[in-house]
Amino acid sequence: MLCPYCSSQETSVLESRDSEDGTVVRRRRECNKCRKRFTTYERVEIIDLKVVKKEGHVEDFDREKIRQGIIKACEKRPCDEEEIESIIDDIEMRLLNRKSTEISSSDIGRLVLTRLKKLDQVAYLRFASVFLEFDDVKEFKKIIREIG
Ligand SMILES: [Zn+2]
Repeated sequence: MLCPYCSSQETSVLESRDSEDGTVVRRRRECNKCRKRFTTYERVEIIDLKVVKKEGHVEDFDREKIRQGIIKACEKRPCDEEEIESIIDDIEMRLLNRKSTEISSSDIGRLVLTRLKKLDQVAYLRFASVFLEFDDVKEFKKIIREIG
């Protein structure tokens, strides 16, 4: 945490306190360089991510939907549940680190495909064929080419 006065990276926490409802942690800090004090607040970030579907309507990002899609593709395949979770974590982090809060469903599909290809070829092809139902053949071919 940078000091807001001198931008030093060396700060110490003097005191941490939960808010009454437990949703915010308040930390009193002191800069080790200029000795000024300041307060930071730590709270849970609500994931406000919108998915733009092919037909143009917009949905809230739903981690569970991605999980279900991957689990279905991995059925009877030697895909570890933890590996699936880490794929989803990875994709979610990527989406949250983007500047935009909107992403198209086909971009999400691409992210999943890229990772599934490394995990399991059969799961990859299954997911790709489900993906095909929602997108046209041309786009499907383009994606397969891109992923190589
Ligand atoms: Zn400072």
